[in-house]
Amino acid sequence: MHVPLFDLQAQYQSIQPEIDGAISKILDKGVFIGGDPVRNFEEEFKAITGEGFVISCANGTDSMELILQAMEIGPGDEVIVPAHTWISTSEVVVNAGAIPIFVDVNATTFCLEAEEIKKKLTPQTKAVIVVHLYGYPAPMEAIINLSKCHHFKVIEDCAQAHGSKLHSQYVGTYGDAASYSFYPTKNLGCYGDGGAVFTKNADMADKIRMIANYGQKERHTHLIHGRNSRLDTLQAAVLSVKLNYLEKWIKRKVEHAAYYLEKLADVKEISLPMLPTGSNHQHSWHLFVIRATHRQGLQEHLRGYGIVTAVHYPKAIPFQPSYQRFRHQASDFPVASKLQDEVLSLPMYAELTEPQLAHVVATICTFYKEL
Ligand SMILES: *Cc1c(COP(=O)(O)O)cnc(C)c1O
Repeated sequence: MHVPLFDLQAQYQSIQPEIDGAISKILDKGVFIGGDPVRNFEEEFKAITGEGFVISCANGTDSMELILQAMEIGPGDEVIVPAHTWISTSEVVVNAGAIPIFVDVNATTFCLEAEEIKKKLTPQTKAVIVVHLYGYPAPMEAIINLSKCHHFKVIEDCAQAHGSKLHSQYVGTYGDAASYSFYPTKNLGCYGDGGAVFTKNADMADKIRMIANYGQKERHTHLIHGRNSRLDTLQAAVLSVKLNYLEKWIKRKVEHAAYYLEKLADVKEISLPMLPTGSNHQHSWHLFVIRATHRQGLQEHLRGYGIVTAVHYPKAIPFQPSYQRFRHQASDFPVASKLQDEVLSLPMYAELTEPQLAHVVATICTFYKEL
């Protein structure tokens, strides 16, 4: 039985008439950049943020770069980022001319904690980028409190966390600004690249919209140094259709996660991802990540039975060749150093069937029994 990591074809089939209709409307109209579909999607996206401003852009990485530029973060400034994340989170800091200061993550939530951030604060700390990794809602209150005492900005990287909630409140709405990616396999993905910024700050929203539009408000008057970063019309139309299904898809994934958590509870060679403690939180399960002993063997065994898994991520960011100049040691980030050797992402998408889930569970169990 084949079980992919994600199944975008199954998702498309479930909403095909609506998607096809939305796309053909754009083709008929012949407007491919800007237009009503882009503005409409920006309005609709507030369903998972609430009051504020949504500025769509070309991809998730750009959305963070736009935020940093609007905050005027640059040379000499330090920005705290997690040691265990996708490279974009630190790349944008370097692209801004600032210095990424890596902080180890919590071993069970995979996210940053205020106490660890506090240890790395300096007078140069201008911002912290908190990543809601795999869809887990990071503990924002403590981080926001710390930011108020120490006067740094808080940016939420929500690339993996559309629809995640902390105390019934969507993530992305706690900090000064939030970034989103619509890369195809994300919780909310388009059929290409896409991204967005959310902020409650009208001035920042204004500035970000200007930067993303060549520094202009009106055509041919470039008020500030800008660039081009935009969500194209076709992608916006696709996203408007899919946004209506996001809550339903997350609900399905929550059920799948509960199944994995129950059926794998007794496999002592793996540790399972944690649910946020307390009520009214929502993990959106972009990825279901276990920590496994004999990871490589397990991954190969699963592949032999048609099950696709992946490692997010096999080398922690501070140890990447492009950051050799910082001379980071494994002992600087004990948790991230361990996670890189143990994490394994199991198939997780709304359309997973019960037989597929059962197949994954049974195949994991037999691997460790036969070991
Ligand atoms: C996907 C991702 C990004 C970047 O998004 P792109 O749209 O691919 O640029 C940034 N941060 C995290 C944590 C991501 O998973």
